[in-house]
Amino acid sequence: MACAAWLHSFPLPHALVPVLRRRSSLASAFHRATWPSPPGQFFSFASGPSSPTLTPVRAQAKRGFSFKDDEVASPDDLRFEAPLRIVEYPDPILRAKNKRIDSFDDNLKKLVDEMFDVMYKTDGIGLSAPQVGINVQLMVFNPVGERGEGEEIVLVNPRVNRYSKKMVLFNEGCLSFPQIYADVERPESVKIDARDVKGARFTVSLSGLPARIFQHEFDHLQGTLFFDRMTDEVLDSIRVQLQALEKKYEDKTGLASPERVETRKRKTVAAGFGKS
Ligand SMILES: [Zn+2]
Repeated sequence: MACAAWLHSFPLPHALVPVLRRRSSLASAFHRATWPSPPGQFFSFASGPSSPTLTPVRAQAKRGFSFKDDEVASPDDLRFEAPLRIVEYPDPILRAKNKRIDSFDDNLKKLVDEMFDVMYKTDGIGLSAPQVGINVQLMVFNPVGERGEGEEIVLVNPRVNRYSKKMVLFNEGCLSFPQIYADVERPESVKIDARDVKGARFTVSLSGLPARIFQHEFDHLQGTLFFDRMTDEVLDSIRVQLQALEKKYEDKTGLASPERVETRKRKTVAAGFGKS
């Protein structure tokens, strides 16, 4: 059993802090703010689901999930060229199915290294493989967003087995949507099963900022983008910026945008959780 101590050394914000893309202008506020829970309660890391070190996930709601339908990635699916490039909305790569990884080799380690590299260079604090054009179930993150600080987390084939009922609102950004920030509501905490870069299975409970980052990246692995979860009112506040990205894509590729925010149906129900 191992217990990771990341996030113990710095306070977390309690409201409306940009995540997933670090903004240096808010760094001082980020470090001043404090999360209501005591340090050490955000993350625990265990070798098995019954470990007593797991952080309790409050008001848990059990969700079903299945691995059976996942297609396994081939060596071709995992082929990449460094340096990696961030794929921006509305590239259809961001909506494509992401395959399960079952080979934990040097190529995977190199891909993870390159993903951290581009994440730090672009001031990100989380990155999923489809965002660098690789449609596999892999994410990396470091809530501090600085190489050598915090802890680098790698999750392969992650699954959520519990979400908290408690929901929180955060101002999110996304490397695939440069300079766009808006509020998204998500569960405050999650309990996850995943593999590490060596293929070892583990279970982890996350809350606060790490839970927020995880859920945003986990959505990428399902082809869900952060604006899919915004209310119509919030979406209206970034609609022009999304349309500018659609035009940028069309100008660059000569292709029609594969999706348009303008034609998105007004939501009658909130995007669901638990579709893992
Ligand atoms: Zn994103």
